[in-house]
Order: sequence, then C-alpha cells, then structure tokens
Amino acid sequence: MSNLSFDTEKYFKLVLGLGNCSLDNIEQLCNVYAQAGADIFDLSPNIKSLKAAQLGVKKAGLNPYDFKYCVSFGVKGDSHIKKAQINTKKCKRCYKCVSKCPQNAIVMGENGYPKVLTEKCIGCRRCEKSCIDFHDYEVNIKDTAKDFKGEKLDIVELHISSLNKKDIFKKWETILDNFDCQKSICIDRSKYGTEKLIKLVREMTKLNSEPTIIQADGVPMSGMESLPCTLQAIAHAQIYKDLNMPIFISGGTNSFTRELADKFEISYNGITIGSYARAIVKDAITCGDIKLAVEIAKRLVDNVKN
Ligand code: SF4
Ligand code: SF4
Repeated sequence: MSNLSFDTEKYFKLVLGLGNCSLDNIEQLCNVYAQAGADIFDLSPNIKSLKAAQLGVKKAGLNPYDFKYCVSFGVKGDSHIKKAQINTKKCKRCYKCVSKCPQNAIVMGENGYPKVLTEKCIGCRRCEKSCIDFHDYEVNIKDTAKDFKGEKLDIVELHISSLNKKDIFKKWETILDNFDCQKSICIDRSKYGTEKLIKLVREMTKLNSEPTIIQADGVPMSGMESLPCTLQAIAHAQIYKDLNMPIFISGGTNSFTRELADKFEISYNGITIGSYARAIVKDAITCGDIKLAVEIAKRLVDNVKN
C-alpha cells in the first residue's frame, strides 16, 4: 500500500545504496539530508543500511518514522549489481587498480594479491582490465522481504538495465508478491528504443494494482554538475509524459535538473540524486562541519522541492 502522495508533493530522494556508501556514510548523510529536508532514503536491500539511516535521522534530532525508505534490486546485467573480482591467474601485482578505485574497494589481500571488498564496490568499472573479472552480485528478494517484515519500508524498486525479459518479470512478480508497499521501476534508457520502453513499462505496471513510480534514469553515477548528464534524464522522463504515472527523474541529476524539467514542461513527482548530492557535502562532513553540510544540502533539496 502506498503512503506517498502524488498530487502536490515533490519528493527529494537521496541514493545511498547498492554499495555506494559504507554504514558510517549512510548514517552521516541521513543526518545531514534529514535536516536539509530530504524525504526518501534509497538504500541497499539490507537491514543494516536501514538501521544506519534511521540512526542518522535520530542523531539529527528527528523522528525516523517521518521519513521514507526505499530499497532497490537489480536484474542480471545491471551495472549497479556488478562487482569486480581480481583474477589472480592474470594479476601481475602492479597495484594500478588500487589507485583507480574511487571507493577504496581494492585492498591488499593474501600473498601480495589485491582483493575487492564486495560491499564497497559499486561496479563502476574504472578498474577494468583483463586481470579483473566482473560478476553479478544478486540479492535474494524473498529473503530480503522476510528480513524487512515489520520494518518501515515505503518503496521497493527494480533497476532494469538488460533485455532479459524472463529475469525482469520473474523479479518484478517476486517483488509484487512479497512486499506490501509502493513499487518503482527504473529502466536504463540506453538498452531500449522508445516503443520497446513504453511496451515494457505498460506490461510491468499492468501487473501492479497500485500506481507504479517510473524512475527515468539518465547517466547513473556521473556525480557531476553537468548539463548533458541531466539532459539525458529529462529526455527520458519526457517519454512518459502522456502515461499519467508518478515520475521520478534520476541518474546524472544535479542542481540543473529542476530548471530543465520546468523548461521542458516535465511534470515530475520527485528527483532522485546520488553521486552529486553526496559529493557536494563530502568536504564539510570530512571537516566535521555538519552545520555547513546541512546548509549546502538544503540549497539542493529546496531547489528540487520548492
Ligand atoms: S589486478 Fe591487474 S591492475 Fe590490479 S594489481 Fe593485478 S595486474 Fe595490476
Ligand atoms: S568496479 Fe573497480 S573501480 Fe569501481 S568500485 Fe569496483 S573495484 Fe572499485
């Protein structure tokens, strides 16, 4: 059952999931963005992340039950669920991959070989070389639903960045059967032409008795204040203009997104921001200046909501 209102409200959703953040990061960022007026925290599908988010809100002196929490799953091939793995048969121990990783996810392992900390890897492929393999790191949806029973969970989202319809519908149906909250789908536009995209959205939303949020993804994990990145998300959202569904804009989103959405007359219900939102408060948080971090975050949140 949905407890989101799509009539007047515009939501600010902060992405902290799918390996993008450590538990400490989640706690700090939820502390800052809860004070800044964010509404929804998008987390990895595990209880530890939810508890860290709620602790961050509590430490900000706010009630964790006043905020919404979303968890996301990915279908096979989704870049968000890809994880790097060192191929020790090919590794020459040059350690170049260590400095390339933005997440500090590659550390020294046994016998001088590097190893990847799976929970920190976001599958960005900046370390990509023949000595590094990538594999899908899938989370069991039914087990996660059992773990979250009785917890505050408001949205469950499926990320789609493959053409594997069998896998897409199997996971979508499992989500619909096992979670009693708002559902959302986020499709990688680069995989689908417009007609196929609309057909897929229609087929999936038909199976859900409640309105499904459609999250129009641009360039995920870009983290930049860049017009082209956010333009892709706007162009994607425009495709759904006549479908009369709740729309969130994501991927390459930043402080330009609102202005562009208004310019192209995209009526949206929320903007989802990850890399950019985290990047702009990073220095202030690192220096321990939470007041400044909240001020910076508030400018972004206000830009989306007001
Ligand atoms: S995995 Fe490749 S890049 Fe990393 S240390 Fe080994 S040889 Fe170097
Ligand atoms: S894909 Fe490679 S560079 Fe990217 S986070 Fe994972 S280990 Fe680091």
